[in-house]
Amino acid sequence: MREGSLEAPTRHPIDWKNPDFFNEGLLFGELERVFDICHGCRRCFNLCNSFPLLFDAIDESDTMELDGVDKKVYWDVVDNCYLCDMCFMSKCPYVPPHEWDLDFPHLMLRAKAVKFKKAEVKTRDKLITATDKIGQLASIPIVVNAVNASNKNATVRRLLDTTLGIHPDAILPDYHSKTARKQFNKSTQATINSKACGATTGKVAIFTTCYGNYNRPDLVADLIDVLKHNNITVTLLKQESCCGMPKLELGDLEQVEKLKNDNIPTLVQMINEGFDIIAPVPSCVLMFKQELPLMFADDKDVAKVRDAMFDPFEYLMLRHKGGLLNTTFKEELGDIAYQVACHLRVQNMGLKTKELLELIPNTSVSAIERCSGHDGVYAVKSEFHDIAVKIGKPVVNRVDKSEASVFSSDCPMAADHIASGLKDEKAVKNPISLLKQAYGL
Ligand code: SF4
Ligand code: SF4
Repeated sequence: MREGSLEAPTRHPIDWKNPDFFNEGLLFGELERVFDICHGCRRCFNLCNSFPLLFDAIDESDTMELDGVDKKVYWDVVDNCYLCDMCFMSKCPYVPPHEWDLDFPHLMLRAKAVKFKKAEVKTRDKLITATDKIGQLASIPIVVNAVNASNKNATVRRLLDTTLGIHPDAILPDYHSKTARKQFNKSTQATINSKACGATTGKVAIFTTCYGNYNRPDLVADLIDVLKHNNITVTLLKQESCCGMPKLELGDLEQVEKLKNDNIPTLVQMINEGFDIIAPVPSCVLMFKQELPLMFADDKDVAKVRDAMFDPFEYLMLRHKGGLLNTTFKEELGDIAYQVACHLRVQNMGLKTKELLELIPNTSVSAIERCSGHDGVYAVKSEFHDIAVKIGKPVVNRVDKSEASVFSSDCPMAADHIASGLKDEKAVKNPISLLKQAYGL
């Protein structure tokens, strides 16, 4: 049997409209097949908690084989997977076209979808994955102050822990009544004579994301400033809903479809008007680039959005290739410790953020290619928070040991999670904000 492949991995469409997808007996047959291969391989022992949990259960069983493991453990393995995709993209030699045809993350997704269909998910999980609904409520003026104050109040946080299962030490972001979409809805600069180059049109519609819109409008503001400084026409979408990644991680595939139906027509309309799409959060970019196209493989509009969706630094580096990036910098940034978010790494485009920031004179970026442990809502849950901190510890140690005065990650949630564990005082800045700073804007 040949191990590994010389070809690029293939990702099969997610066959979720097939009733067999939700057949628990068939699911367990596939879980057994895949877990047994993983037991013999064990390369992924240090990626997340799913694999150590499985391997420990096997090693501690009477038979020391998968047949000695209680099926309840299978669900624990599923619950500990946050679909970062790293096992598929960076470790596994048995991914298709290998005949063993292993796609561990998408098998976990199938199991999550079965669990959701059986109505076995917690109310808490439904609530915290409704990011746009929570954002709409929490950003109402007056309500917003109460929400932000409560999230910092130790008594309230203890109550949230015991009643809902939100860990008291998990970082809950501030909400803003002046959301990005309220502030920047009229950002289009009709006067900019933007030039197309390569795969980029020079006109960008920003998908602000739930996090950018409700929690980090400053990040959207910085992105707009950086794009305009590069002679790129910028606007926001006429409307947007959540990209669907939180609901995907919950296994609520019907809600993912609903959100897709909300977003895709608006996105396609903008693309038809000559705009490319950028989102400031890697997970949301990945949702449009990879997960939706695999869930809706025959949908031409979804494919159109996939081809026009860019990470901000990927976009700017494409412009740089065509000589259209503004490389006149006013401020040097020095040493930056930089965590590469998993959902950025699995986009397979190289380290564009590092490449661009290192165009700035006297600026060096030490890339740390390890999981932060935050992973969507994983670190927020009471039962997983301590594990999430443990997963992020190697990153925290590397940042603490580095000489850098600044810590950065493209994922703002990962950045806050890591920053909360740092011993040293370091400035925490998103790469987009660092670029804006270097431009002297
Ligand atoms: S997708 Fe990520 S979290 Fe899930 S099993 Fe693979 S490495 Fe672990
Ligand atoms: S997912 Fe692949 S690489 Fe990871 S333990 Fe299983 S078989 Fe090995």
